[in-house]
Amino acid sequence: MVTDPVCKMKIDPKTAKGGTLKVNGTQYWFCSSSCRRSFLSQNPGAK
Ligand SMILES: [Zn+2]
Repeated sequence: MVTDPVCKMKIDPKTAKGGTLKVNGTQYWFCSSSCRRSFLSQNPGAK
């Protein structure tokens, strides 16, 4: 299990609906596309 950095929800990376982003080599998973968007707005370098 991994923790969504936006809402702190525990999620399974295999079923993470929001997909993933990498920042400086660290990968993050998201529970939803809205969490992913919110993270992206705070971390413009994420991809
Ligand atoms: Zn979330």
